Amino acid sequence: MNSQHTLPLSPSDLFEKQLKTSISWRKSAAEERILRLKKLRDWIKNHQKDIQSALWIDFSKPAPEVDLSEVFPVTSEINHAIKNLKSWMKPKKVATPLPMIGTTGFIKAEPKGRSLIISPWNFPFNLTVGPLVSALAAGCTAIIKPSEYSPNTSKLIVRMIREIFEEEEVAVFLGETSVATELLALPFDHIFFTGSPAVGKIVMKAAAEHLSSVTLELGGKSPAIIDQSANLEDAVQKIMWGKFVNCGQTCIAPDYILIQEDLKEEFVMRAKVQLQTYYDPKFKGIELSPDYARIINQKHFERLRNYLDDALEKGGKIEFGGNYNASTNYLEPTLVSGIREDMILFQEEIFGPILPIITFRELSEAILLINSKPKPLALYFFGTNSKPMDQVIRETSSGNLVINDCVLHFLHNELPFGGVNNSGIGKAHGHEGFLAFSNEKGILKQRVGYNNVTLLRPPYGIKAKQIISSLIKWF
Ligand code: NAD
Repeated sequence: MNSQHTLPLSPSDLFEKQLKTSISWRKSAAEERILRLKKLRDWIKNHQKDIQSALWIDFSKPAPEVDLSEVFPVTSEINHAIKNLKSWMKPKKVATPLPMIGTTGFIKAEPKGRSLIISPWNFPFNLTVGPLVSALAAGCTAIIKPSEYSPNTSKLIVRMIREIFEEEEVAVFLGETSVATELLALPFDHIFFTGSPAVGKIVMKAAAEHLSSVTLELGGKSPAIIDQSANLEDAVQKIMWGKFVNCGQTCIAPDYILIQEDLKEEFVMRAKVQLQTYYDPKFKGIELSPDYARIINQKHFERLRNYLDDALEKGGKIEFGGNYNASTNYLEPTLVSGIREDMILFQEEIFGPILPIITFRELSEAILLINSKPKPLALYFFGTNSKPMDQVIRETSSGNLVINDCVLHFLHNELPFGGVNNSGIGKAHGHEGFLAFSNEKGILKQRVGYNNVTLLRPPYGIKAKQIISSLIKWF
């Protein structure tokens, strides 16, 4: 029986209790960590139905979407870590620069120690357990604070952690901001936060107090550029899925479309057909689709309705959708054109099923617009011509860049995932996730009785000065 059933400790007591474990885990072998990861994987596989039903209760998330976007990314992350952990943990010998001749240098990834994971509600299982996989692979203990907005998934996470771990290894605290604030006051060795840029700043300020390192996985407006050379059918199929999966509540969903002016009408026409095909093939209304989730709560539903009302008041045009049902937090997939700079849709991260369409004449205008805003978490380019493609790669900055697809990069274990500045600090997934929770310790080994600067010690004679000059000149 797990001690988490009997000992409800305060955050600071539990943090204290994790110290001993974190020190003993410093020397943990790959096999030991792999065992923990396997236990986690087995639990997830054995409770897939529970995960589906928790997410269904939280925001009517369809079971196939749960499997694809909550379960698979985590099990795949675990499998990838299990496969690569020995090689990630192996000390890596580095080349010896000439002035260091005779020494050996290597890098050893050691666990940072006690970690804190704070997660959001939009992919509440994936974005809580994914970072935990990296923490466990790196050999860190963890305290988790999931979101209060997805309470059923959060409760399931508590159950899972209690069934697998002792609380001095991994523990969960449920609650609102006050709980996060209490946890953030503790001197964690690493804080992994996923959420909004506004709260990211609060987390970073709290971390600065103890100089805790941070990974901040934040949000923002991720544009999708549709170039003249794009295959529109392909682009529409991918964007209509990437935008409206999870009811648009995806940090890397295309936030707005930037499309070459003369392609807009065809894009809209194709998008309408595609949305009908995905969510309403029998013309009974998208609201009845079993494959379309709901907005997480009334607060976010009202926020999105306000965005839409604001756009309509300022001359925006609904090209598709716009219907809603406030009693169920249903908001139809909605395409809006006629976007102006003073609209909230243009300014704020949308994080819901509303897709603004903005046109441009020259690609340089689209690039100028993107560069005038904070650097996005993801940038999508649809086009087959290498010249505009290269121009976008060279002239923009974003956490990730995806060409002729969207959202998919989240599932690529070999690519660093994350933002840049306002959209995030540090990277996650695979080896990058492991490194986020590790201290890469540089180790230098010298031979006894030998020192590379023997001739350079005081008193500095002419010879020492000559050697120093040549060091500067040649190295
Ligand atoms: P949020 O920032 O409001 O909340 C995230 C977590 O922080 C929750 O657990 C919440 O309880 C906690 N929190 C809230 N206020 C806090 C405070 N003042 N002090 C300490 N903790 C606090 O974000 P959200 O609404 O849950 O999620 C939506 C945001 O997250 C969007 O901006 C989205 O783009 C971003 N996001 C980013 C990623 C990514 O991987 N980069 C993934 C998902 C979501």
